Amino acid sequence: MEKKRVLLVEDNSANRMVVEDLLRHAGYEVRSVVRAEDALEIVAQFRPALILMDIQLPEMDGLTATRILRENEATRKTPIIALTAHAMSGDRERCLVAGCNGYITKPIRVEAFRQEIALILDETDSCTSEWTQT
Ligand code: MN
Repeated sequence: MEKKRVLLVEDNSANRMVVEDLLRHAGYEVRSVVRAEDALEIVAQFRPALILMDIQLPEMDGLTATRILRENEATRKTPIIALTAHAMSGDRERCLVAGCNGYITKPIRVEAFRQEIALILDETDSCTSEWTQT
């Protein structure tokens, strides 16, 4: 069976390594980029089953990128989970309004993170099959 692909957008190298490692151990194919602009550029070709989107990024922020992905027919339904260090009230709502399916706060708690990812990828089997048909 083909590995499910996860696209990680994260500018912090330590977080990037932790999440990449975790996802690869869980059996996913991972690509990570530092800039939202790079994610937008490769997403149609990489065709991820899930996008993990850091909100605070150097240039374009993660919420702006999420809105753009939601306007794009190819990524309209791709699950996007926001990653953010902000545990401020209102943050979750902002992520959901921008089009994110979920919200994970950093630092990552390994077991909770793994479960959340698995849950979303299992739930979205029907969505991801759209990719394989194209
Ligand atoms: Mn960041």
